[in-house]
Amino acid sequence: KSVQSQRSFKYADLSVCLAGPDQLNPKPDVKELSFGKYFTDHILKIHYYENMNGWQAPEIMPFGNITLHPAAKVLHYAIEMFEGMKAYRGVDGKIRLFRPELNMERMLHSTSRIGLPSFRSEELIKCICRLISIDQEWVPHSTTSSLYIRPTFIGVDPTLGVVASDSALLYVIMSPVGSYLKTAKQQGISLFADPKFTRAWPGGCGNSKFGSNYAPTIQAQQEACEKGLHQVLWLFGENHELTEMGTMNVFIVYINDNGERELLTPPLSGLILPGVVRNSLLSMAREWNQFRVSEKSITMKEIIQLLSENRLLEIFGAGTANVISPVSCIEFLGQLLHIPTMEQPEPIYHMLKKHLLDIQYGVIPEHSWSLII
Ligand code: PMP
Repeated sequence: KSVQSQRSFKYADLSVCLAGPDQLNPKPDVKELSFGKYFTDHILKIHYYENMNGWQAPEIMPFGNITLHPAAKVLHYAIEMFEGMKAYRGVDGKIRLFRPELNMERMLHSTSRIGLPSFRSEELIKCICRLISIDQEWVPHSTTSSLYIRPTFIGVDPTLGVVASDSALLYVIMSPVGSYLKTAKQQGISLFADPKFTRAWPGGCGNSKFGSNYAPTIQAQQEACEKGLHQVLWLFGENHELTEMGTMNVFIVYINDNGERELLTPPLSGLILPGVVRNSLLSMAREWNQFRVSEKSITMKEIIQLLSENRLLEIFGAGTANVISPVSCIEFLGQLLHIPTMEQPEPIYHMLKKHLLDIQYGVIPEHSWSLII
């Protein structure tokens, strides 16, 4: 390990300045929650200054704007990464974080690619737990809502050179959220698959959570919306391999050549974000051992072939924001493909979703994936 990677801020140095009564925001009604519109009363900030011994003491303070120099590197070269995780209020009233160590692992992987300093995962987890416990009344009392946590890490050096940033700011904000995708309950989501758009490529950064991976997806998403479709299905290469859908990992259930049910998701080839939910669904499915589980690539041609043989059973997306989203159709090169996910008598997506929610909302009260706050 380099000296740098051993350097970290410490939870023990955290200072807390609580918001005064006039700085507290009213909490929105659970029914009004859309994704990331309201924010809690406090923010966690940790500064890094290369020429002042690196990491400074973490601070929790009243939520407010941050000030940046107009030349700050984040604003020009997108030296930025973020994470997305959730705290859930369980049926027993306890607040749980879901596998935060996986978010930290992914965060540290992302930071190294853009020259931001590393830190110790457990120190940030402890600071985040303290932030949640201060704003605990913001964790919705509902099993259809949760508190979304957004760690954000930016290079803030006020100089225009394309080099690593000597100063950086890691901050964490939190937002009570309902459902991310608003679709009718029994409807399933529709996907727009157009090979002219590529989200990630070999040697690129598809496996990192950089803001710069998301800005170029806006136009494709707008085209999907104009066609009345919900999300983009991201394809890669001449064979139109399926990679991800919207901001979710993609899963397919089909009858394989041996006549068995198989759950398939594309492998972590560098083009795909290593989702925490993806990892969890694969573990659960492997442990159940009721159907085959594989990490293999699959092309649009194979999807169409499976559909024509009635062997394609389900397609769904998986991610923190919406847990699992079943797919009902894909528009691909002018063809509208009907996906029978919603018509299966006992769909795999449903079993997986139920088990995951049971862990997250404490129906299963003790689980190694839950960190109780
Ligand atoms: N793929 C992309 C592109 C994403 O933005 C996300 C959301 N973080 C995911 C997959 C799902 O990851 P996770 O299960 O960790 O939320």
